[in-house]
Amino acid sequence: MPLLVRAGRLAGHAEPVDLRVGDDGRIASIVATSDAPSDDTGGAEVLDAAGRMIAPPYVEPHVHLDSVLTAGEPRWNESGTLWEGIERWTERKPLLTHDDVVGRVMQVLRWQVANGVLFVRSHVDVTDPDLTALRALVEVRERVRDVMTLQLVAFPQEGIVSFDGGEKLLEEAVHLGVDVIGAIPHYEDTREDGVRSVEIAVDLASRHGLMVDAHCDEIDDEQSRFVEVLATLANRSGLRERVTASHTTAMGSYNAAYSYKLSRIIARSGINLVCNPMVNLHLQGRFDAYPKRRGLTQVKELLGAGVNVAFGHDDVMDPWFPLGTANPCQVALVGSLATQLTSPAEVRECYRAVTDRAARVLGLQGGYGIEVGRPASFVVLDARDPFDVVRRQVRPSHVVANGHLVARGPEHASTLTWPGEDEMSVDFRRDADR
Ligand SMILES: [Zn+2]
Repeated sequence: MPLLVRAGRLAGHAEPVDLRVGDDGRIASIVATSDAPSDDTGGAEVLDAAGRMIAPPYVEPHVHLDSVLTAGEPRWNESGTLWEGIERWTERKPLLTHDDVVGRVMQVLRWQVANGVLFVRSHVDVTDPDLTALRALVEVRERVRDVMTLQLVAFPQEGIVSFDGGEKLLEEAVHLGVDVIGAIPHYEDTREDGVRSVEIAVDLASRHGLMVDAHCDEIDDEQSRFVEVLATLANRSGLRERVTASHTTAMGSYNAAYSYKLSRIIARSGINLVCNPMVNLHLQGRFDAYPKRRGLTQVKELLGAGVNVAFGHDDVMDPWFPLGTANPCQVALVGSLATQLTSPAEVRECYRAVTDRAARVLGLQGGYGIEVGRPASFVVLDARDPFDVVRRQVRPSHVVANGHLVARGPEHASTLTWPGEDEMSVDFRRDADR
């Protein structure tokens, strides 16, 4: 049955609107509620938004689905470093089976849908001669396609040049149907290997019409300078905005002169950057005494230079990060604090970093956003505006994917019985009306 969303508040519309979904799962019409006869549902299922916000869904631009829910298996990452994370994962990898991967991934995809995420880019480790995780993820991508769009990145966790057979495995991943080519130049053994690995990734993507998303300079080493290589090759190859540099945490340690030079190269290249604030606050700075670095990329400065920057969750309960609920709203809040983007306008930018800016990373233009003719995929939020969503961590009351209601949200209220006081309630959906 087609869906009719009644009386929702939509950015750019002064009055509440009725949004009607067509039989094709696309938005058929958006009209002011005051202009729509209330008894004419046209046989549609009615979702009463009752004045709540209707917003495009969240987009997860950077997660590692293959490793989710493996924290502590077979051992915990005690040092909390990226390096021990890779060691623990290298121990877990031989234990991967098809069913193990599918079961864990489906669990986290359900969390994501409940949180309002309908578009996901997942890195998948391809430094595994059997490519067990990638084969499973290709199957999952197909299984969930009516609800979620899943992009898969061939991610060479242990290197392309420094890992035996790394380049061949990348090519095999292309034949299995990945959407994006990855790289990890700062992990390669030498600077030259790192440069070569970026060249291989860009060349492979160019030849097969794919995108590039490299883990780039995820280290607190001010000498790690591969973003300049990736951005330059993105520009020269013509791939430009189809290229993304992820993490780039070394930028948090670069001097001002080099930062200035680099931001010009990045802006000119058209590439996207993805910062993963929760995980890099946790992993970086681990080798520092005080003062201890934040270990995040230069988000505020890059936005100021006109670069598209998005926020990713990165890891969900795996060897690199023991926490996480797969909720981009939490990522936006942590990103806001960690990068000191805290004015009202800046908090709105952090919300954009997990919505439309992340959609640009995935290249979703035309398939994302609330407009007539576009897929009817959106969330309903009991909040005033994006600032309110981030501040109160408002979860969606409804999630609609391609015209189908796929999730309903919870209540957020508690009753307080304090000694000497009358019973009272705290309702986190309402305290904006304080
Ligand atoms: Zn990552």
